[in-house]
Amino acid sequence: MMGAEESKSSGSSSCPSFASGCVDFPNACRKESEATAWTLLHQVMMEKWKEGHAEAAGFAETVLSCDGIIHKDCSFDFCTSRQGIINITKGSSFFSFRKRSKFAKMAEHFEYNHIPAQMSSINHFRVKSVLCFRDSLVVLHLTRNTASQFGLLDLRSNKFMGVFGRQRLEFVNESLTGEISPDKSKCLIRMPDINDRQQRAPQQNQILFCLYDMRSKQLLSEFEFDSPYNHFSFDPRFTWHRIAITNFEPNQNNSLSLVQLDEWQVLKSNLRMTDTHNSLYPYMKGMCYTKDGSLIIANILDTTCYCREKKTRNYRPINCSIYVFNGDTTETLHCIQYQRYTCTQHMCPVNYTPIFSTCGSRMAVVMNLIDLPTQHFVQVYKLPTMLNLQNMCRIVILQNFPLEYLPDLPLPPRLINYLHFKPEFD
Ligand SMILES: [Zn+2]
Ligand SMILES: [Zn+2]
Repeated sequence: MMGAEESKSSGSSSCPSFASGCVDFPNACRKESEATAWTLLHQVMMEKWKEGHAEAAGFAETVLSCDGIIHKDCSFDFCTSRQGIINITKGSSFFSFRKRSKFAKMAEHFEYNHIPAQMSSINHFRVKSVLCFRDSLVVLHLTRNTASQFGLLDLRSNKFMGVFGRQRLEFVNESLTGEISPDKSKCLIRMPDINDRQQRAPQQNQILFCLYDMRSKQLLSEFEFDSPYNHFSFDPRFTWHRIAITNFEPNQNNSLSLVQLDEWQVLKSNLRMTDTHNSLYPYMKGMCYTKDGSLIIANILDTTCYCREKKTRNYRPINCSIYVFNGDTTETLHCIQYQRYTCTQHMCPVNYTPIFSTCGSRMAVVMNLIDLPTQHFVQVYKLPTMLNLQNMCRIVILQNFPLEYLPDLPLPPRLINYLHFKPEFD
């Protein structure tokens, strides 16, 4: 099938054949059962992706590119395009907004729409950013009297659930990362270690991990270690007990570990995560689990910035790699490499973060062809699936029933939860 738009835009003869043609999805679907892992199932222009191919391929997400500036409009955990923040007008607000260069749009939205008025006007709470979210639960980075703390918000009921984790200093947004546990009972926050508990001057690379209980708002445990950078993510199969984390092992700069959070005990480690660079940082920009927890996905990108060349002929794409690891052993399984006109220093991570289908067995990435910076291609890959009957049934059910039908299926609640990828193990 040849779209009118594509034939118009592909004026140059250098345009590769797959740029104009795309696989008819229903046919591709029928063949999918025979496709092996990592097969490219589908490739389509971004416009078509938004016009129905995403839905046909079983993806709920259509926003795969964003003009937001990182640390201004969007953060690694929150995108003003994808999460749909409205552009509020300052005149209509009952707050007097302070001048802010960072996270202005996002912070103002939350302050205006979700923070109780008296908190802002009497208690002088300011929203600095969205630290993390899971479903409708949002953790905000707040400041009050030049000290950071965190606020818990439920967007579904539009209820502010209170503050927690008061610090002694105000942190910059870039120094904080957080994630809410799969069962939403805990929140793990990575922050600079400013305590000198052992009468020791704080070291530059000293990092503190704080585990908070979301109900009691109490600090459950903290763990400090030396590492300027790392990423972490909760294993979705466990309520909150297991995370994947980079560079957790001492003196390693290219490692992935599985850690039991109760005792901060290492279960498994892979000491060579990437072979394209000697160290993970500054190239690694994101890490997540697939929905069923069987795979860990890491984004490794070139950090060169071509933003100034955007309107010139020197505008170049950067090299992107998606590394895939076994969620139980940390063993490296696969790597997908492509090129993308984006920038890790200035552009929203939505432009280079893979997404997963509702059934969890397909992954989509957006790539560009060289010299075609305005044409974005969505590629859908088949992921390896766990060969157990329960998981295979889940994939088939999710590929054939819309999510809203699931509660009506004649199945016990435990299986309904399983279909929703709720944690199976405590
Ligand atoms: Zn964005
Ligand atoms: Zn740039």
